[in-house]
Amino acid sequence: MRPLRRLLWGLGVLALAIGAFWLWVFWPLGGQRAEPRGPRGGAELPTAAEMAPPLVAAPALCVGSQPGPPGAAAANAASLSTLAWSPFGKAEIGWEIYAPRIAAEIGTSCAAGSDGFAAALARWQAANRLAPTGVMDAAAFAVMLPRWHLARPFVRVNREGTCPGAPSGPDLATARADESYGGKTIQLRPAALEAYRRMTAEARAAGVLRRPEALKIYSGFRAPDVDAQRCARDQNCQGLTRTICSAHRTGLAVDLFIDAAPGFGPDSSADANRLAMARSPLYRWMVWNAGRFGFVNYVYEPWHWEWTGEPLLPGTPIASLPQAGAGSVTEPAEGSTPQTPAAASGARSRR
Ligand SMILES: [Zn+2]
Repeated sequence: MRPLRRLLWGLGVLALAIGAFWLWVFWPLGGQRAEPRGPRGGAELPTAAEMAPPLVAAPALCVGSQPGPPGAAAANAASLSTLAWSPFGKAEIGWEIYAPRIAAEIGTSCAAGSDGFAAALARWQAANRLAPTGVMDAAAFAVMLPRWHLARPFVRVNREGTCPGAPSGPDLATARADESYGGKTIQLRPAALEAYRRMTAEARAAGVLRRPEALKIYSGFRAPDVDAQRCARDQNCQGLTRTICSAHRTGLAVDLFIDAAPGFGPDSSADANRLAMARSPLYRWMVWNAGRFGFVNYVYEPWHWEWTGEPLLPGTPIASLPQAGAGSVTEPAEGSTPQTPAAASGARSRR
């Protein structure tokens, strides 16, 4: 009878393991289900402790051994290029632009339409009190986006109604000619430039700088008064942000050449252009690795990164700054805290 007893013992352990797994998956949904937090729900923003930690190192290879919820992978594969939604207040189709960041958020290197991705998303949804469908949707994005915004010290300070101070000339370092895009003079706070150099060296070693312009800087420190003049001259103030309080005034923000679709410049926010960047090995590498060097990204703009290694300079109340040009809001731009309801989670104070 010993083999039979062993078999029964084995089956018992297996049943316990399966039971524990489903308990783990569905436990947060027991009883009352919390509403998804996020700007759309009008619920509270995550606290600093709940913010996304810096993304560290490369993901493990996708093994795809865990099946996702039935049908989820196919649904994601389709919606990746067809989902009609407005994640930043303007209509967009598909979510592939944000797929690299979403994959990092849910901790998978599996492709967005794969079973492994759906399984990872279902686990993330369960952990965040969402229905663990494994299907990417606006509700999941609405939980992710405030975290990404709040990973940026600039946004956190803005939320308090403060615009950080701008460094003066002697407190800025100038990038080398070979680090600048198009021969522009680029200035940054010295430690930010050093961090940029360390990151660039590692990206080069990783083999992700496929184009000669890759990671060259096309915008760094921008003096507040110069931004205001540019706004008036171009009749393009890119919303409140460039006019009143751009992240580029800190000397910690950089616009980097990531990639560009044919016919577009490296800073065009056309969806086709942002998609080209999202598909580049460089952006995918950045999403996973830039955090190790202290850089965080504004996800709407794959090119805009802010260095977090030093505190922002003491600021002034946003309300006290000149408000000229504030009416010309077109779309979220230039490392801004977007003004739209969907994405304004990081910028309530700006209203
Ligand atoms: Zn920028």
